Amino acid sequence: MDLPRLEDLPDPAGKRVLVRADYNVPLDGSRITDDLRIRATLPTLTWLLGRGAAQVTVCTHLGRPKGRVDPRYDVAPVRARLAELLAGAGEDPSRVTLADNLRFDPGEEAGDPDFVERLVEGQDLYVDDAFGAAHRAHASIVGPPRHLPSAAGRVLAREAEVLSSLLDHPARPFVAVLGGSKVSDKLGLIESLASRVDTLVVGGGMCFTFLAASGHSTGASLLEADRVEACRALLDSGRAVLLPGDLTVLSPGGTFGPGHEPTGEVRHVGADVPDGWTGLDIGPGTAADFTDAIEGAATVLWNGPMGVFEDPRFAAGTRAVAEAVAATRGFSVVGGGDSAAAIAAFGLADRVDHLSTGGGASLELLEHGDLPGLAALREAAARAAQKGGPKPPDGSESDGAAGERGSSAGEHANAGEQGRTAGGPGAAATPARGGRG
Ligand code: ATP
Repeated sequence: MDLPRLEDLPDPAGKRVLVRADYNVPLDGSRITDDLRIRATLPTLTWLLGRGAAQVTVCTHLGRPKGRVDPRYDVAPVRARLAELLAGAGEDPSRVTLADNLRFDPGEEAGDPDFVERLVEGQDLYVDDAFGAAHRAHASIVGPPRHLPSAAGRVLAREAEVLSSLLDHPARPFVAVLGGSKVSDKLGLIESLASRVDTLVVGGGMCFTFLAASGHSTGASLLEADRVEACRALLDSGRAVLLPGDLTVLSPGGTFGPGHEPTGEVRHVGADVPDGWTGLDIGPGTAADFTDAIEGAATVLWNGPMGVFEDPRFAAGTRAVAEAVAATRGFSVVGGGDSAAAIAAFGLADRVDHLSTGGGASLELLEHGDLPGLAALREAAARAAQKGGPKPPDGSESDGAAGERGSSAGEHANAGEQGRTAGGPGAAATPARGGRG
């Protein structure tokens, strides 16, 4: 994907740079439990500092404070961790400021042009490194590229490159393994991938709607009756869809999942779930079949757990898939969210080729082939090229991009008019996790 990169920016020396990051990290009170998203942006920050940027202002959202100042979502712990990491990388942390949580202001999610004006005030350049938020047409994502010379940071550029390469030129056979709770969350993605992959492997809660569509009984398992027809159409289309042939099920009245005492009887059954029983994982035979499919692939995309992996009685299928994805010689990509959490929990995260930092964003990019945040950067680059002419072939910078700022200073960024708005497929994710992205 042709995004403007850091190297395409006017020389950052002596400039003030606004960086949009995605530091929406998991917190236990004020303790950060996983700082991957902060560490991931260090290459972008050190590149800017190394090229003499006078001041870097990083902005992020954290949680869902809904447009009001809420101390629970104060970025102070992130600010402290960022300063530590910068100092550890040999940088002077005083040249980097972390602004307050963007979502303390209702203008962020509303895409308010006045909020955009405030964000870009006093800034010379804009860098978007917030892949996890690139599917939102929020003010800080789509607004600044209309005012400032803009580029993708390292995280965003790499995510866009890897994920769009799966759409454009995957090494074959290309196998996508999809799981997670609801088929309705991912039907668009499934339909889009079905025509691109060589085999679509379906597990997790969503497999029951497919199993129902192929005539199996699903007992008390998660079933979306209004999606059975869509699943049947997909199965009838002749696409290669691999469904579970056996399942791990829990007896009627048994309890499972976080916050519950694990009770009830667990059994392995075929593809039919007995009345009153609940399918909560793929069975061992299916885990072996899925492993074979993954082993034979040149490209593997995995998104969504194969069962309720939070409960050890139903984690075997997800573990088998995680191990197969980690072991494959093919190019492996794991979408964010629960599958990334699962692969990290199994200690296999560093054995996949690309672990996406964005759950909802990665799925939307794979489904639609583009995201509002990426489109905004490309449009900014196209406007800059129009004004300043093409870049000289030696790669030295044109001042066209720099000219962009002055000419658009009075223009209001209409963030809301671009692409899809908030509440994409993530809006209906599992209640336990409260949605994607
Ligand atoms: P994200 O939406 O954050 O990207 P994801 O796409 O990896 O996450 P989700 O669709 O959110 O996955 O679903 C994950 C949840 O699905 C897990 O909490 C898991 O317990 C649940 N799940 C998996 N299999 C089943 C099943 N058979 N029945 C009920 N829930 C299931």
